[in-house]
Amino acid sequence: MDPLDVVGNLHKVKPAYQPIISAIKYDVIGYEVLGRYHDKNESQSLGTFFQDDEVPEEFKVEVDQHILQLAITDMLEEEKAGYLFINRTAKQLMVNDGEDLLEMLLMFEQKGFAMNRVIIEVTEHDFDQEFKTLSHLLLYYKTYGIQVAIDHVGAKSSNIDRIRQLEPHILKIDTKHIRTHNSEGFQDIMYSLSMLAHRIGAALLFENIEDDFQLHFAWKNGGRYYQGHYLARPDFNLLSKDSLSLNISEKVAAYIQREKMLIEQRLSILTTWEQKVKGLLSKWEGPKKVDGFIDLVTHQFDKESFRMFICDSNGLQVSSNFRKREKEWELEPHKKGSNWAFRPYFLENVMQMKISNKGIISDIYSDIETKEMVRTFSFPLNDQHFLFIDIRYSFIYENECLLI
Ligand code: CA
Repeated sequence: MDPLDVVGNLHKVKPAYQPIISAIKYDVIGYEVLGRYHDKNESQSLGTFFQDDEVPEEFKVEVDQHILQLAITDMLEEEKAGYLFINRTAKQLMVNDGEDLLEMLLMFEQKGFAMNRVIIEVTEHDFDQEFKTLSHLLLYYKTYGIQVAIDHVGAKSSNIDRIRQLEPHILKIDTKHIRTHNSEGFQDIMYSLSMLAHRIGAALLFENIEDDFQLHFAWKNGGRYYQGHYLARPDFNLLSKDSLSLNISEKVAAYIQREKMLIEQRLSILTTWEQKVKGLLSKWEGPKKVDGFIDLVTHQFDKESFRMFICDSNGLQVSSNFRKREKEWELEPHKKGSNWAFRPYFLENVMQMKISNKGIISDIYSDIETKEMVRTFSFPLNDQHFLFIDIRYSFIYENECLLI
């Protein structure tokens, strides 16, 4: 597409709208505005025009201004509530100090389109250059109520500090990054991003949702908004809830059922483990004969565990490590005297067990020694001594309820 054709034929340039759906009430809360070039009953994306570095920024601004003007007019004429998500690059925003966009929005504010209904999407990619200028400009826009979203988040976690500085209203997570072969890596980035979003008060929007697996992922990972072909394709009309390609409430109801079932299964495993240890409590003869006691426990957890030990309420390990490498359990007496209180949640969990007199199962984490993913089942033997049983990955893997 010749950029001059685009700029010279603005009447052929139109906005398309991709609905954005709320996870709370499953309704359309707004639209991402995308540029389309409409010629002889065919329309093509203006993506290449906007991504082409050879096209002067002034051209892009002109086309984008035209599209935005049509979009807001459509919203006003159809009396649609909700947000407009618009894409802008740092370079584009810096043309004329970003005044063109602001002027147009001020003009439409007079006509009844509030500034806070506009959400500017900037990409992480743009942080590499001119971050300072960009962040000043966005801060300036924010004083008018304009909202900011960071687009395509999730490719790398290296920009977390910059995202924090921008304090965006929304993080748009690209679900394309959920690939089974690197799902663990993405899961870790996702974890950092959710923590960050929580800290700065940003909502998570999952975009490019193309199938059930990705929607489920978005739901499970705290997505407040969903967007993607699976729910609705971009359209020249401002689609409402009834025209979505999918019944989300049915989908979510199924996720809820499934999640509840897995939690139930996990709790039932936990109860079984508690029963096993409780059955041995009469054999507890105090900390002096602690290794003999663990020896009994190993027979009960031969399939599940590869390591166990006992600590007191200060985190001091009072037993040897029992460690299963091949088939036999081996003793590692030198581990006695270690202190584990520094580990995250250790004291918190010990106090919880002491008060509730119940076992706890940890989240899944990577073991420092084996590098394998493990979970730890812990149980209060009395209010001074606590048993820790590390669950091997093969057992976790065989029981899906332990994987979540
Ligand atoms: Ca976008």
